[in-house]
Amino acid sequence: MSTSASFSFELYPPRNAAVAARMPQTVQRLAAAGPNFISVTYGAGGSSQSASLDVLKLLLETTSVPAMAHLTAVGSTYAEAARVVREFLDAGVRSFLAIRGDAPDGTAADAPRGDFATAAELVQLIHRVQAERAPYREVALPGSPAVALDADGREKVVIAVAAFPNGHPESRTIDRDIDALLAKQAAGANLAITQLFFHAEDYLSFAQKAKEAGVEFPILPGIMPVTSPARLKRMLELSGEDLPSELAIALEVEPTDEGRREVGIEYAASLASRLVAGGAPGIHLYTFNQAAPALDVLARAGLVDSATTEKEPA
Ligand code: FAD
Repeated sequence: MSTSASFSFELYPPRNAAVAARMPQTVQRLAAAGPNFISVTYGAGGSSQSASLDVLKLLLETTSVPAMAHLTAVGSTYAEAARVVREFLDAGVRSFLAIRGDAPDGTAADAPRGDFATAAELVQLIHRVQAERAPYREVALPGSPAVALDADGREKVVIAVAAFPNGHPESRTIDRDIDALLAKQAAGANLAITQLFFHAEDYLSFAQKAKEAGVEFPILPGIMPVTSPARLKRMLELSGEDLPSELAIALEVEPTDEGRREVGIEYAASLASRLVAGGAPGIHLYTFNQAAPALDVLARAGLVDSATTEKEPA
């Protein structure tokens, strides 16, 4: 029995030929589960813009699932970023995750960072480029050959932004992160997706504080099935989150890959269930380009029928 909470997935552009060859099958399996959208990372791990666009096109051309393009602003001029947004809109993308991005490792603190100081400015740019392309919808005036221009009839784009339940590493207090979310909302963002975290309370108290501060858009918790100690270590390095000791110990003591997979899926499924029970509007799963663990988490949390996960092996 599945609940009404939504779910969505994140993919990243393949980094080797084997993953690239599997991508169409991964996309089909994830799409068959009926997600609200599938997002594709951008620039993370050194991947190129065209690699992201290839995965987005695969989604747009072979599924009916909305494709969300991550876009980073770091190091970009306004003109370059506007060109990329136009290119993605031309390809059919209507959902974006606007993020600031990080300067590459080793960049000097005083090195130029491009035209954008924050993700909120990229949100504004996406809206501006979209408005330029489809400024107004023409509305027929009854009994007259003239037409009226309806600004409210503009095609809407989804512009999601990043949220950090345990604080962004550069932020001194959670209030600063809430201020950043409010700035993104003022710029026109209409959805947020969180950095990964490991305890339901981290998200629930952050979402409550954000709501009390005036954040009106849904905040989707981002969670990841962590099925090996090596992946947990890598994720903690990338996200700056603290080590969840109970998960780390459970993964370390399991002697088999199968046992570790079970630990990771059970942990993520129980986290997803607690989040939905606590009022989260849905679950965004970081898939690591693996359909089976993500679908198993959703099935175990009661968010999809288990039949969805049994169609074919990963
Ligand atoms: P911003 O929100 O602009 O700034 C980060 C922090 O600075 C804020 O949280 C806040 O502490 C402070 N701040 C900014 N503006 C204000 C303000 N007005 N008032 C007060 N404080 C402020 N990186 C990639 O390279 N590619 C990806 O595809 C990618 N996908 C991601 C997806 C998700 C869901 C998340 C959570 C992160 C992703 N990242 C990705 C990582 C992201 O680029 C980094 O976390 C980056 O350091 C911050 O980006 P941001 O958009 O949150 O920045």
